[in-house]
Amino acid sequence: NTQSRFFLLEKNDAKRVLRHRSRFSSKADYGSAMIVAGSYGMLGAAQMCARGALRSGVGKLTLHIPRCGFTVMQSEVPEAMVQVDRNDGGITEINLRHKYDAVALGPGMGTHDLTVRAVETFVNHAEKPLLLDADALNCIAERPTILNTIPPMSVLTPHAGEFDRLFGEHNCMEARIKTAVEKAAYYDIIILLKGYYTTVVRPDGRILFSCSGGPALATPGSGDVLTGVIAALLAQGYSPDIAATLGAFIHGYAGELAAETHGEYGVLATDIADRIGTAIRDIM
Ligand code: AMP
Ligand code: MG
Repeated sequence: NTQSRFFLLEKNDAKRVLRHRSRFSSKADYGSAMIVAGSYGMLGAAQMCARGALRSGVGKLTLHIPRCGFTVMQSEVPEAMVQVDRNDGGITEINLRHKYDAVALGPGMGTHDLTVRAVETFVNHAEKPLLLDADALNCIAERPTILNTIPPMSVLTPHAGEFDRLFGEHNCMEARIKTAVEKAAYYDIIILLKGYYTTVVRPDGRILFSCSGGPALATPGSGDVLTGVIAALLAQGYSPDIAATLGAFIHGYAGELAAETHGEYGVLATDIADRIGTAIRDIM
């Protein structure tokens, strides 16, 4: 096989796939996204994810969060609609009352038994590709049979720890990428492995490396912002593999911009989220 399987995603590649907005467009043209996230003490993750999505141009955003987060979420993220779980402290029932162009699950959700069960039921009945991150992945690791029911072309965004919980211990990124190639093909999913040179593995075996970002992104909530970016791109009609790679590039670039102001030590996830718009403008 002489065809290259490895691709490096640079600014120009991101520019090529980013679509300009029509002057006559309205929010109805930019899709609706649902983010299922949060639990008592981890509603910040839901906020970071929501900010990431809103800064990435989503047309409409709904959050499904535990009941206890209603007031804080409505006041901290007034641009989003909020639907609450019947449970106060965690997610126990994921029912979508409307149709969404993209659904993301996971940030700060915890891995309570009831949450694992809710994830299992929801994934089982899902028909369109999902975006699964953080505790959604940890819930799946608790009940690996869920892997078999993930809709094709879903995007999984584990960091090294989540990846190992799902697919077994590995001692280096190269080993993880090798396993990711196998698993992406087997389950017909896209695996975005986070870290320096975030790696997107497609089910056809192609591997893309995003070359933006740096250690300033190693800050709590950073990954939740990425999930929001990818959810917004999916909602806007970018295909799952493009949404994943483009999302990783934009997120890393926004992190670089945040580091210009705050340095490698001082970047908050919020700073990353708030530079996504500028990042997209620079890239275009
Ligand atoms: P999480 O661990 O879920 O919060 O995700 C961390 C996010 O920050 C991912 O998007 C990583 O790719 C990114 N990140 C963390 N450390 C680095 C690094 N050293 N270089 C580039 N990106 C990083
Ligand atoms: Mg994370």
